[in-house]
Amino acid sequence: MSIDQIKTVAVIGAGTMGNGIAHVFAKSGYNVILRDVDQKFLDRAFDAISKNLDREVKKAKITEAEKPEILKRIRSTTAAADLAAADLAVEAVPEQRELKERVLKEADALLRPGVILASNTSSISVTALAAKTSRPENFIGMHFMNPVPVMTLVEVIRGLQTSEETFSTIMALCQKLGKNPVAVNDAPGFVSNRVLMPLINEAAYAVMEGVATPEAVDAVMKMGMNHPMGPLELADFIGLDVCVDILEVLQTGLGDPKYRARPLLKKYVAAGWLGRKSGRGFYRY
Ligand code: NAD
Repeated sequence: MSIDQIKTVAVIGAGTMGNGIAHVFAKSGYNVILRDVDQKFLDRAFDAISKNLDREVKKAKITEAEKPEILKRIRSTTAAADLAAADLAVEAVPEQRELKERVLKEADALLRPGVILASNTSSISVTALAAKTSRPENFIGMHFMNPVPVMTLVEVIRGLQTSEETFSTIMALCQKLGKNPVAVNDAPGFVSNRVLMPLINEAAYAVMEGVATPEAVDAVMKMGMNHPMGPLELADFIGLDVCVDILEVLQTGLGDPKYRARPLLKKYVAAGWLGRKSGRGFYRY
């Protein structure tokens, strides 16, 4: 499918990432069908999008008049059948392989032939997810970063069977959204998490061994390496449980014990210290 044929985009899953993805598509003029399993999640997503748009109005990135226009382009639904009208679908349900496979199969059965199906997975094999559908050539990874309206990177992951046409359409589409797509091939953790997670893991190791406090580790990386956020602040933002899960994917997928999550990370997760979302991780919130 060419980029000009894409007018309506289905976003499946209206959580942290899904509401951001719906936001950027609607802001770029696309009609969005935002699907979740319960109206309360869709209401929460609209609330988040509305607040994020207010922030953009304040920063003069959009005008006051544009906000209702953008919101009007997003239609929420709990009915899977509504996906049939989409010219592109982006899946952003939780990072559980079986759930994703089920949701992708359902979407595959509803979408017209030739429509591109993309997954926002952060670590599951795009090639393997594609193989669960009848359209592996029209399947691709679109790994948006959190918060989606702010972060400009989209890691575009080509599965083994992704066609050249699908790839070039998605690269062009990302640019149309004002994003910077970077193409990578399918491998555990892609590039983003394969490079980031060992950094976070090593930072946790340094704290565990008493080399430095979390504040000192983050200060070294911010002031010495010009990172806008220290690795432990970032780990708290991502969620320490999510970090441990991704490290397990790297360790299993690449078969190398160097990716093993450090005991301190696992201990914090066991204690329920998941980072920002639970009020405590390496820092208190
Ligand atoms: P989330 O839990 O915030 O949102 C997921 C949403 O999917 C929920 O609203 C849930 O109700 C909905 N959902 C569950 N089952 C569904 C179904 N059958 N049909 C439709 N909707 C369904 O999760 P998230 O943080 O937005 O993550 C989504 C995906 O994005 C994951 O694959 C994750 O790995 C990836 N990702 C997350 C981040 C991040 O920082 N949060 C960054 C990059 C990529």
